[in-house]
Order: sequence, then C-alpha cells, then structure tokens
Amino acid sequence: MQIAIDGPAGAGKSTISKFVASEMGYLYIDTGAMYRAIGYKVLKNNISLDENEKIELLAKESEIELKITDHGQSIYLDGVDVTGKIRTPEVSMAASRVSAIGGVRRTLVDLQRKIAGSNNVIMDGRDIGTVVLPDAEIKIFLTASAEDRAMRRYLELKEKGVETSYQEVLEDMQKRDYQDSHRAESPLKAALDATVIDTSGQTLGESVKLIVDFIKSRAKA
Ligand code: C5P
Repeated sequence: MQIAIDGPAGAGKSTISKFVASEMGYLYIDTGAMYRAIGYKVLKNNISLDENEKIELLAKESEIELKITDHGQSIYLDGVDVTGKIRTPEVSMAASRVSAIGGVRRTLVDLQRKIAGSNNVIMDGRDIGTVVLPDAEIKIFLTASAEDRAMRRYLELKEKGVETSYQEVLEDMQKRDYQDSHRAESPLKAALDATVIDTSGQTLGESVKLIVDFIKSRAKA
C-alpha cells in the first residue's frame, strides 16, 4: 500500500503522515526533509543558489538517510544528524530553490523510490502523486488558505524559539508556494486522481482526524 500526500507548505502534511504511519504501522517518508538537507548543505558550503551544476553534483555526492529514533524520524546528511538544523526559514527558501533543479530532483526521486521499495509507505511532498509514486493507491492533495497555513507555521516556529512575525511567515510561504507551483520540473499540483482536501478553518487536530478516517476507510475498501 502506498499513500501519497501532496500540498503546499504548512497544510499539515507531515503531522498527518506521522500520525497515520504510527497508527497503521507504515513507513513515513518525509521528502521535504531531503530537499531541505541539500538546501542546508548548499548554504553551509557558501555555494550560490544560482550554481545549478555545482548543486546537482553536490546532491549526487551527498549521502542522505532517514532514521527512526526514539524521538521520531531523524535525517542524516553525510553521516551527521541535521534534523535540528533544517527547519529554519532560510533553509526552507534554499530547499525551494534547489528543488527546482532537475538533476537534484532526479537524485532525490531515485532515493525516495528506493526507500519506498516494497514497504507500506506514506510519503509527503509536492510531486509524490504526480511523479514519485504515480501508482499510489491513495492520493491526497491537502490544502488550506494561506492565512491558516501561515498561522500554524508561525505558531510552530514560535514554539521552537525561532524569532519571526506572522507577516514574515505568510510572505515567505506565499513566495515558496509560488516558486514550487511555477517551476518547470515537477511543479506542485494535484494529481488528476488525487482527492483534494481543504482544511481551512479547522484546527490541526480536526484535520488529522478527518484525513486519518478517510485513509482508513479507503485502505479497507
Ligand atoms: O515539505 P517541506 O516544506 O519540508 O519542503 C521544503 C521544500 O522542498 C518545498 O518548499 C519544495 O520546494 C521542496 N519539495 C519538493 N518536492 C517534494 C518535497 C519538497 O520540491 N517532494
């Protein structure tokens, strides 16, 4: 069984995916974390985000692993745990830039398919239902108003102690969504056979319940 969850930033994809994975014993694959790891490495090595060829090569030579730990899932880049370093606004934007590069996508899509293998998986991202797992049995395109998504993300960042404002988060998110949905390579869009679910006006808890119920009913069918 493969479940694909796509959608714009802050729609609640990862919270829902983690919950479903633990409830149903599926493997959760956070593809955004992989693009973030490459974005982080590019920033760390002071490579300009315009240097596509260098970044393609860097992605190819990088070792990315998702590991299950006591604290949930961790992402390792070249053997080092970078989980705590990839959620900043700067890395979000760098991830969006590197993810538009075809060679980077090819490297990471290969890795994502390899990890999925023949496991029961729930994978979230932007191109899962359209490109990575086109035969997934369940495809969800999760969305909510930009204001709702920005408020959730703002509260999350605030809780983590990241200094920012709601307005800044909203603007960053709108910019990232625009970049992600207007790029030439695998733009963010709903697969033709995806179920579109809009969680505007709902709390995260409400939308988690709605989607978990939906997945369970479809998985049984
Ligand atoms: O999902 P998350 O917000 O962590 O993803 C960070 C960035 O990685 C996105 O803004 C997008 O540009 C890119 N991404 C992608 N394809 C995916 C997952 C993430 O292009 N499957």
